[in-house]
Amino acid sequence: MAKDFYATLGVSKSASADEIKKAYRKLAHRYHPDKKGGDEAKFKEINEAYQVLSNADKRAQYDRFGENFSNMGAGSSGGGGGFGGFDFGRGFEGFSQGDFRFEGSGFEDIFSNIFGGGFGGERTSLRRGADIRVDVEISFEEMAQGVKKSVSVRRTGRCESCSGTGGKKGSSETTCSVCGGAGRVRQSVRSFLGVVQQVVSCEACGGRGKTFRDPCSSCRGSGQKKETREFSLDIPEGIEDGQALSLSREGEAGERGGPPGDIMLVVHIRKQPNFERGGSDVFSCASISATRASLGDSVSVKTLDGETVIKIPAGTQSGEVFRLRGKGIPTLGSRWSRGDHLVTVLVSIPKYLSREERKLLESLRELEGK
Ligand SMILES: [Zn+2]
Ligand SMILES: [Zn+2]
Repeated sequence: MAKDFYATLGVSKSASADEIKKAYRKLAHRYHPDKKGGDEAKFKEINEAYQVLSNADKRAQYDRFGENFSNMGAGSSGGGGGFGGFDFGRGFEGFSQGDFRFEGSGFEDIFSNIFGGGFGGERTSLRRGADIRVDVEISFEEMAQGVKKSVSVRRTGRCESCSGTGGKKGSSETTCSVCGGAGRVRQSVRSFLGVVQQVVSCEACGGRGKTFRDPCSSCRGSGQKKETREFSLDIPEGIEDGQALSLSREGEAGERGGPPGDIMLVVHIRKQPNFERGGSDVFSCASISATRASLGDSVSVKTLDGETVIKIPAGTQSGEVFRLRGKGIPTLGSRWSRGDHLVTVLVSIPKYLSREERKLLESLRELEGK
């Protein structure tokens, strides 16, 4: 299901940043919806591809994981606008309320370079549907192996009767009285910079600039219908707790034919009593008696691959760590490269002694005293 962003821009996988930029400019110019022979869908595809491929972090993620990962910050990218450095709480809300499809860094600069600034055209102000957040919980083992999960999402979909336009078939249209046909209205918005004037898409017409004389009777003019959809998703091995996967354009439908939002699937990993996690390493403890630690022994340890036996050499101290190479968690998206499992040996001192044990220990103490 992954889209080939390289093919969309018509460049090779090894294309330089410059080549990508050039290819993007050419295509964006050709397909811009305001132009004669423009193609809105194609234009959006080009922009989606460019948003990912123009950003070194996102491009690297995409190369490794495909498009599901393009919107996910692995905590490694250093902030940046839009999707970068996914701070979920804020990023999510900020994005779902954005009125324009093309927010964030990069795009606006280039847009204004080519088209002389501003968002031209009524179509770019169509209201984008909201993102939907879905939380899913997986077990520690599922995280380590990767797992397919299906989620059921109640969402606002497109009304079939009117194909999302909100108008009755054959109904004539009239210029929107609220925005005068512009599709956009000015609004004062309070922000941390004070009150700012913002241009937002017109609510009355959903940014189309026109309204139907006869609204669709099935959706009462909204172009939307509630529906429940099932999605099946591959959660890759090694995912971190709280990381999100995105299903692009599967969120709430836009109003009156506006583009849909995304589904953001936030993954939570259940605690596992035996294992702690540190990146791709697994930590656990093994308890051994003082006598066994002194004399040397072996202990059985639970790992992600099942039970395994480790040799405890004579004289092992409490807190000593034994490394089981390659028994840890796969690096995100790769079954082949795995972290280690580190076992901390804890030497336990008996709390209660039998008479015989006490006797033996006392004679041992006498030996030590000499
Ligand atoms: Zn309007
Ligand atoms: Zn309808």
